[in-house]
Amino acid sequence: MTMITALDTFDVRFPTSRELDGSDAMNPDPDYSAAYVIMRTDQPGLAGYSLAFTIGRGNDVQKAAIDALAHHILGLDLREVAGDLGGFSKRLINDSQLRWLGPEKGVMHMAIGAVINAAWDLAARLAGKPLWRFIADMTPEELVATIDFRYLTDALTPEEALTMLHAAAPGKPKRIEQLLAEGYPAYTTSPGWLGYSDEKMQRLAREAIADGFRTIKLKVGMNVEDDIRRCRLARETVGPNIAIAVDANQRWNVPDAIAWLRHLVDVKLEWVEEPTSPDDILGHAAIRRAVAPVPISTGEHTHNRVMFKQLFQAGAVDLVQIDAARVGGVNENLAILLMAAKYGVRVYPHAGGVGLCELVQHLAMADFIAITGKKEDRAIEFVDHLHQHFVEPVVIRNGRYIAPQTPGFSAQMHADTLTQYRYPDGPVWMEPVDIVNAH
Ligand SMILES: [Mg+2]
Repeated sequence: MTMITALDTFDVRFPTSRELDGSDAMNPDPDYSAAYVIMRTDQPGLAGYSLAFTIGRGNDVQKAAIDALAHHILGLDLREVAGDLGGFSKRLINDSQLRWLGPEKGVMHMAIGAVINAAWDLAARLAGKPLWRFIADMTPEELVATIDFRYLTDALTPEEALTMLHAAAPGKPKRIEQLLAEGYPAYTTSPGWLGYSDEKMQRLAREAIADGFRTIKLKVGMNVEDDIRRCRLARETVGPNIAIAVDANQRWNVPDAIAWLRHLVDVKLEWVEEPTSPDDILGHAAIRRAVAPVPISTGEHTHNRVMFKQLFQAGAVDLVQIDAARVGGVNENLAILLMAAKYGVRVYPHAGGVGLCELVQHLAMADFIAITGKKEDRAIEFVDHLHQHFVEPVVIRNGRYIAPQTPGFSAQMHADTLTQYRYPDGPVWMEPVDIVNAH
């Protein structure tokens, strides 16, 4: 028997606000951070790695929420956990006292997601497979057994999910070959941070196209005149054949979003991300109707599968973002991917931050192989930032994510990073600012 022996957590923060990397209309000064998890076992060299992503203050709160789950996992038999990842997730989500802090939303749910993802990482390592392959190799019955269908059956039943997965199964071997040969499309947000000058945006947009990206995304929502100028400048810079998306990061009231977006119609937007509150399903539907055919999307802050269900049922979105570290782990994201497939909504996974690219690539690739069979009409977000802190950083080639080959979920950070960037007493946080900028 291999036993889970410890849940170690770390408050890791990167001083990104000093360069305005990651700045948008609602988050002007993020310090990208990870409430980082190591799920240890008594087998030498075998541990599970995961993280909840935050943007600075509150990362200690996130870490404390993860610590509050330790009693659920200490002493468990790893093989039993790996063989029943559905039961494992329900054990955490249904904690009769902690669920008061949600249920299934916010800090506690993100903590649950981090622990569940660490368990999937361990299970994939145990199987000797990258996570995308571990999911792809599950039978339809095994995959469906990981999902909690409570509150979903008016939109998707286990039987429907099984039918979809069985229909996709015969094509899996061919798609695995395709994925390994072609990679998975990426799009980039690197040119578009709100704090960047026009010149920096244009330079980075040109570099993105030279690097093979076919879609770029700009942050908007602070000032309408600036947005009109920046979007038109971006369109002039990239030409008519590169897609431009914009992201308002929840900035607008519903009528403001409609008025604002009417100014940007001539830019030909690929999608508009998070125009308003992530909780406002009817608001998204109203915006979508008013600015059609401009595609509307949300999802990186959508709490859980029930919210996604309503977005789909209400026809509120043309596409969605999923986030590997927002909801209750791989299990809940599989439920969301299956619902998106049923409703014909394309998924453009949210990434960037720290470690989100490393994590979410596995979910998109598993979706391609086991669920939708599609990848060329969608793309995973990519931001070229902080990847050097990971043992298995993402590989992007010609604007595409290359499928990871090493076992697990790709979330393991270097030990040195945990020491250097530990908050508040790691060396990076103790140094004067001008020395930090040299890192
Ligand atoms: Mg976004």
